[in-house]
Amino acid sequence: TALLQVNQVSKQFGNDAMALSNIEFTVNEGEFVSIIGPSGAGKSTLLRCINRMIDTTSGDIIFDNQHVMKLKKKELKLTRTKIGMIFQHYNLVHRLSVIENTLHGVLGKKSTIAGVLGLYSQEEKQQAVKLLDSLGLGEFMYKRADQLSGGQKQRVGIARALIQNPKMMLCDEPIASLDPNSAKTIMDHLKNISKTMGITVLVNLHQVDVALRYSDRIIGINSGRVVFQGTPNTITKEH
Ligand code: ADP
Ligand code: ADP
Repeated sequence: TALLQVNQVSKQFGNDAMALSNIEFTVNEGEFVSIIGPSGAGKSTLLRCINRMIDTTSGDIIFDNQHVMKLKKKELKLTRTKIGMIFQHYNLVHRLSVIENTLHGVLGKKSTIAGVLGLYSQEEKQQAVKLLDSLGLGEFMYKRADQLSGGQKQRVGIARALIQNPKMMLCDEPIASLDPNSAKTIMDHLKNISKTMGITVLVNLHQVDVALRYSDRIIGINSGRVVFQGTPNTITKEH
């Protein structure tokens, strides 16, 4: 069944050329879908429309049976908890520890002050520890985020997203700032999350080879338009 439907979505910033033109696709529950395209194609704009960081100019987005564009503030907040965001630049709070950054995913308890672990329940802290262990970060739990390598930072980003218990991971160029080895580790974790936890993954990538290796389906966009869409098999044959 469809978890996300993007129906005829267009986006124009001011009087600029259309950043997105009639984008149309569906992502099913548990699917691993990559969006590929060159820089400036509209990938990031598309993801920002899906969790409504920005408003579409026209078209519908339906996530988990909710019309995203019609949600009021409170409903939007709830819907966003079902979407775990992963960013190219990790968006961690540099001076906080790994476990504190992870706990930022817990709904409504965000603190940017160090040493406030007492804010969180024993259960929340145990969940954070469990996630960090599973991502190979157990020994870095109390290290400051800014002392980690890029690959380690992105694993903290994944832990922070997973503690929300999301239905979908929305990943905006998660490996664009990483070396090939760290990139592989991150992609392997995302694939594993999708396979073992049944979480849907929608990921922006500019590396075609990575998309081909990890995705159930690939959507190619260029100049704000869908230019192809299909399984890695069909795409390898056609291009
Ligand atoms: P990609 O993620 O594929 O590199 P983007 O979604 O960032 O592409 O950009 C698509 C187009 O939209 C580009 O022409 C970009 O300049 C434009 N754009 C993105 N965000 C804004 C914004 N906030 N204001 C104006 N133009 C924007
Ligand atoms: P972000 O993309 O999360 O903003 P940056 O790469 O800009 O992360 O780095 C944030 C801080 O972490 C900077 O102070 C930088 O010097 C430091 N930093 C980045 N990479 C490393 C690393 N591999 N080891 C130690 N410190 C790092």
